[in-house]
Amino acid sequence: YSAVQRLAILDELTGLNNRRGFFEIGEREWERAIRLDRPLAALFLDIDQFKQFNDTYSYAVGDQVLRLLADCLRDNLRKVDIAGRYGGEEFVVLLPETGVLVAKDVAERLRIAASSVRVKSDLEELGITISVGVCQKTPDLTDLDALIAHAGQALKHAKNVGRNQVIISHAITNSQRDNGNGEINSVPTLPSQQRAEHPGNEREKALHHNRISSHDSGIPDLCKYPKPVLL
Ligand code: GH3
Ligand code: MG
Ligand code: MG
Repeated sequence: YSAVQRLAILDELTGLNNRRGFFEIGEREWERAIRLDRPLAALFLDIDQFKQFNDTYSYAVGDQVLRLLADCLRDNLRKVDIAGRYGGEEFVVLLPETGVLVAKDVAERLRIAASSVRVKSDLEELGITISVGVCQKTPDLTDLDALIAHAGQALKHAKNVGRNQVIISHAITNSQRDNGNGEINSVPTLPSQQRAEHPGNEREKALHHNRISSHDSGIPDLCKYPKPVLL
């Protein structure tokens, strides 16, 4: 890319791909994964209660949070992974050759890394948390937009059930859970998940959607709001 072309596809604040850049590179990755029948996963990340960084501190502090989270993504992803700033405080990541099980681990690693980010305001050190939705290419998903949209839906679930967590899209059935090694992981249903269909119980529903995760079930609420956290 020429310098001018690079500017058109990069986000100035974070140095990540902007939405356009992300989709430009991402479409190629999608086409490749379809053609060669390879796994491909997407993460949709959103900073929890980000607005409060702007409101309580300043827009400059908010901007610093965005830069530090971008660093965090760069530090914790592979060279082949494609990260982009989708807009505002929302980020997307495409993980080539990766199934949903490994993608969930990556998301969890990012969530933990984000929680150790420290941002200095005038007087205090602030911490952040993120919520993440995870999805994987399946035969039902027609294009990259659909993959990202499903990751976004899973992110909404993560927000609804208390933030600071990783949720896998309901678009992924148990038989489709793929660890990226060409093995399909069919995960047995746990007894607690057989009760998961209480209408209106968002947390239970999310656990159902996320039934491979024994880690998430029963954990205490990690984050107490309002955010930002004073450390
Ligand atoms: P939730 O946990 O539900 O995601 O809450 P939230 O506060 O993070 O979400 P909301 O969508 O209400 O707030 C997003 C805020 O992001 C609002 C907007 O002012 C801010 N924002 C968007 N772009 C930028 C930016 O480039 N810099 C800064 N500092 N703030 C931004
Ligand atoms: Mg947010
Ligand atoms: Mg948002």
